[in-house]
Amino acid sequence: MNQQDLMDLLVELSGISDFQLELKQTYSKCYWGRYFINRKLIRIYALDEDGTQFPDDILIREATHELAHHIQFYHVPGWERQKGIVHDEQFYEIHKALMDKAFGRNVPVKYSPIVERIVASRK
Ligand SMILES: [Zn+2]
Repeated sequence: MNQQDLMDLLVELSGISDFQLELKQTYSKCYWGRYFINRKLIRIYALDEDGTQFPDDILIREATHELAHHIQFYHVPGWERQKGIVHDEQFYEIHKALMDKAFGRNVPVKYSPIVERIVASRK
């Protein structure tokens, strides 16, 4: 999956296209993805430590996460980030809805083993 594929998917899932996506071909120790509010930019760090690109389901999971931030900032009327809370309940609802759509409604989102390993190690 390349940057254009991922962008197309995000637009299809959300119906929103007033953002930019950068699938950066580097590994980041600190981030999988970032959202730059003022630039409306979603940046995904595409590579794993060993230099290979993450599987598509990880990229989709991270990109929909950052997209959920964009949606809250620009598309939820009246929404304001509360001090100290980066991810509120609504954030998870939006992310889940995007994920459900990406991976199929009524089907539990199945992460590949590598995702489960990484998710577990990040808790
Ligand atoms: Zn976040």
